[in-house]
Amino acid sequence: MTADKEIAPGLMARIDGKRDDLIALTQELIQIPTLNPPGENYRLICEYLETRLKRSGFDCQLIRAKGALGDSDAYPRWNIIARREGSVAGDCVHFNSHTDVVEVGAGWTFDPFGGELKDGNIYGRGACDMKGGLAASIIAAEAFIEECPDFAGAIEISGSADEESGGQAGVAYLAEQGFFAPERVQHVIIPEPLQKDRICLGHRGVWWAEIETFGEIAHGCMPFLGDCAVRHMGAVLDAFENTLYPALATRVTEMPVVPEGARTSTMNINSFHGGMAEIPANSDALPAACVPDSCRMVIDRRFLVEEPLEQVRSEMTELLEGLRGSRPNFDYSLREMQHVLPSMTEKKAPVVTSVAQSIAAVMGVEAELVASPGTYDQKHIDRIGKLKNCIAYGPGILEMAHKPDEYIGVDDMIDSTKVMAMSLLDLLAPAP
Ligand SMILES: [Zn+2]
Repeated sequence: MTADKEIAPGLMARIDGKRDDLIALTQELIQIPTLNPPGENYRLICEYLETRLKRSGFDCQLIRAKGALGDSDAYPRWNIIARREGSVAGDCVHFNSHTDVVEVGAGWTFDPFGGELKDGNIYGRGACDMKGGLAASIIAAEAFIEECPDFAGAIEISGSADEESGGQAGVAYLAEQGFFAPERVQHVIIPEPLQKDRICLGHRGVWWAEIETFGEIAHGCMPFLGDCAVRHMGAVLDAFENTLYPALATRVTEMPVVPEGARTSTMNINSFHGGMAEIPANSDALPAACVPDSCRMVIDRRFLVEEPLEQVRSEMTELLEGLRGSRPNFDYSLREMQHVLPSMTEKKAPVVTSVAQSIAAVMGVEAELVASPGTYDQKHIDRIGKLKNCIAYGPGILEMAHKPDEYIGVDDMIDSTKVMAMSLLDLLAPAP
């Protein structure tokens, strides 16, 4: 503990001295346009990180998720795992960042891949989600290694593909290969933009399903000769409004999900289509007069750690079966598209305690423990890697993610870098 206290001031000063390096690193990462889809420049960004991290004594492996969902010869899914061993045995602290960014979209006043610095902010697609976090973790590790070369254990930094599209060829693949096995890695920090004084413990679950109702086609001038699938789906919507939505609104999780509206169970209707193929907007074409024999709806249900997945599924089945019992000719199919179980790290887990202490030491505030309404790569580290000691912690404002003129504040990055470095010192300090 005394060693920590002696080292800390030098470590903080060293990070202040790396401000320009942190800015340049963030800018250069933004300037590699790793758009996903389709998954561009993964190899390039991995090679960039390899060159950088080798200089600080990291052993680097570039790993292609060959054959994983999303991988192709045109758009290969490359990942990097960099590991720096300390002088003596100890725990391994792993920083995982995704290297992909989402599409640019309209409304930018900055060059989305320019990385321009203006008034203390760096602008660009991926600045906050999450190249700024990646840069912060690299500077934290480098400063710590310089200040404390005889540290115990190991530091790992990974850059992984495809988080924005599910992470199958990124963290899921790496976890399947054993890179997140608890005997290899003990603490994981994912520098997603959750705000520099917040620790994110996990996320709610996801259940995507498609409901289709069936009818019978007939001439639209004699609808009584057919059976309208859209009206049947209307009955499903009624049941949602009258029973399901009120029920979901009463379920409140113990998880500290932010924003608070996401603390209850929620469901979005993602798409809805019935009848003939849609005519493009503003077209002169006219549809043929037919009674719809099919109506399809995709639902995006977000569930709580307190709700078993089985209950989420059976609740929907019971609602639909109820309509089958009460509504003449009601017929449907229900197809699950994907599910992700909720994930929550315990509030007393070592990485939570350590980062909370570091936030207090660096910023003089009590860390806010939060959970995310949507999922991120923690699901794979938890479910496939079986590693529970995992959080998201990084600079940037979540609301800025995926927006035009996305930016990251340099001061925020400096504070987060210090927090990460202090946790390295706490978790990997050499024995006195
Ligand atoms: Zn992200």
